[in-house]
Amino acid sequence: MACCLIGCGSNQGARREQLDRAIELLGVMPGITMRTVSRHRETRPIGGPPDQAPFLNGACLVETELGPHELLGVLAAVENTLHRDRTERWGPRTLDLDILLYDQLVLDDSIVAGAALTIPHPRMSTRRFVLEPAVEIAPDLRHPLSGGSLRELLDNISHPHLHVAVVGVPGAGAAEVAGAIADATLARLVHAPRALPWKPSRSGVAATEPWSDALSASAAALETASWPDDPHGTVTDYWLGTLLVAAEDALAPSALERFQADYGAASARTVAPHVAILLRASPEALAERLACHAAGREQATNLFAELGSPGSDPTAGLVRLQERLLTRLRCGTRGGDGPLAVVVVGADDLGRAIDEAIAAVEATG
Ligand code: ADP
Ligand code: MG
Repeated sequence: MACCLIGCGSNQGARREQLDRAIELLGVMPGITMRTVSRHRETRPIGGPPDQAPFLNGACLVETELGPHELLGVLAAVENTLHRDRTERWGPRTLDLDILLYDQLVLDDSIVAGAALTIPHPRMSTRRFVLEPAVEIAPDLRHPLSGGSLRELLDNISHPHLHVAVVGVPGAGAAEVAGAIADATLARLVHAPRALPWKPSRSGVAATEPWSDALSASAAALETASWPDDPHGTVTDYWLGTLLVAAEDALAPSALERFQADYGAASARTVAPHVAILLRASPEALAERLACHAAGREQATNLFAELGSPGSDPTAGLVRLQERLLTRLRCGTRGGDGPLAVVVVGADDLGRAIDEAIAAVEATG
């Protein structure tokens, strides 16, 4: 038997009756036992078309013998019974049922019979409309990736000065996305003080000095004690941990050891961001942006220089770094100083990435 947390929402038709009916239907499905149901609460719509009606949101806890894909199939069947229309992403719906947690299972974008399934739900940790009802019924349930309890996840996005870090390899568009979030939310914007020092070197191993310079400048800008008390929060277009992850990739062992000591001292004065938005671009998009930039801008040599040995494909270096960032960020607090909430956003279409990133941040409010 698996213990599953399910999120439910409705903003079309008779919202309360539909949610009640959905809970009732779920409870009589073979292989599902309904355990606890939260109250419904009204929330404002996030993302999707403008002028949508407000939602009613809730959560329930079930025990089930069904596998995750079978369970998703049952949720879709209940949605269909209640006339769910799927024409528009994040559009109005009579009923939306999401699998938030399935025991401590981690399932990454696994597609069965055309339906994609990611568990834990990939956007849950920044969504107040998900976390509030979830905390009401299961505050101590843990998110298997970040390691935080639901109560901790809710407290995390409730911080009076929210710090959102947009994280991406050079070329992924972190500066653009961070700027757009700041415009939309009125948050204070902090740019990376110095480009990451990924200069190609003859030996294939970067010198340590530019790394230390970048580290002290980047850490100084993140000393939250010196931040103004701004209720709109702060958005940065970098995460300090990126330097460490990149250094592990680029520096020789002895240089890395020195860098790690410096990193430990510098990061001790900073606080991890509450939310990280990781931009994930395809190798093709990164290669294309690399080609454009290499022709011109002064920063390009820094930004798109080789990682690893000379002569190696620079795009491959960036893709490798991107995957390392993903792995590290997903560990959350279990890895040390990571953020509790991480949302991964596809970065090939920058307009769409901006919409998704803004929706993720607005959902915290
Ligand atoms: P959101 O997931 O942002 O709330 P939707 O509910 O409109 O947006 O998205 C539903 C789609 O997401 C479905 O087509 C489903 O295949 C996919 N999906 C991926 N992971 C999950 C999950 N854990 N629970 C429900 N749907 C999921
Ligand atoms: Mg949903």
